[in-house]
Amino acid sequence: MGNDQTRDAKRKTIIAGNWKMNKTVSEAGALARSIVEGLAAEPKGEALPEIVLCPTFVCLAEVLNQVKGSPCKVGAQNMDYRDSGAFTGEIAPPMLAAMQVQYVLIGHSERRQFFGETNDSVNLKVKAALAHGLVPVMCVGELLEQREAGQTDDVVRQQVVAGLAEISAEQIAQAGGAKVVIAYEPVWAIGTGKNCESPEANRVCGLIRGIIEEFYSGKNIASSVSILYGGSVKASTIDEQMQQEHIDGALVGGASLKAEDFLPLIKGGAKRLKSFSHA
Ligand code: PEP
Repeated sequence: MGNDQTRDAKRKTIIAGNWKMNKTVSEAGALARSIVEGLAAEPKGEALPEIVLCPTFVCLAEVLNQVKGSPCKVGAQNMDYRDSGAFTGEIAPPMLAAMQVQYVLIGHSERRQFFGETNDSVNLKVKAALAHGLVPVMCVGELLEQREAGQTDDVVRQQVVAGLAEISAEQIAQAGGAKVVIAYEPVWAIGTGKNCESPEANRVCGLIRGIIEEFYSGKNIASSVSILYGGSVKASTIDEQMQQEHIDGALVGGASLKAEDFLPLIKGGAKRLKSFSHA
């Protein structure tokens, strides 16, 4: 196993499901219920990863209701960075915080590709999430053309540095975990069934950890930030992914839409946790 600095048992292992624009309120409630029931059917006493369900805005209340008393947490898929105002159609951070939503995806590649998100808007949203006690899951990752042009590391570096601009180490760190989660999601691997090979995903996640280390030099932040991999994660890939030094969990789209697909991924996260106790 890696050393404590890089493969840190105190860093949260997180399995997050991004339900994207899927599920009506009753379907989302049923999915959340099935996940909760599936977890309850597992042998007691096994440490679980942090489980985060990210439904659409209209399903948040129902999913929060269904997961009450369970280990599952709830996240939003996006938000505005402003607190309130004349911004028709937007959802503000205090609205999410008041509902007890705990996580929010920021800068998912679909937001960047289809809704004009930029590194600057991502930075504003990460700051707003932190200001309102929400944990931002900041998504970064290269396009296929960028990978083919050998630009992966530069693109990821730019996204990480710009996304964290003007955010202090104190804002990021907290006892027992980090307030910011990074998801490395190569865009060409999202929803395509094409997995980024685990050693390469691990390399880029390690690069991200190194960037955070440089960015917050001397502040001991990098070892506490959970870095997730996302891109066609499924039951057949999770074990290998969870064995990687720098991959602290998964952000999952397609395989989060059915309890029978998602529960094995949670198990994969649990196995990673177990490996710490044997390290
Ligand atoms: C995602 O939407 O963040 C994602 C990784 O999707 P998928 O698992 O379907 O590739």
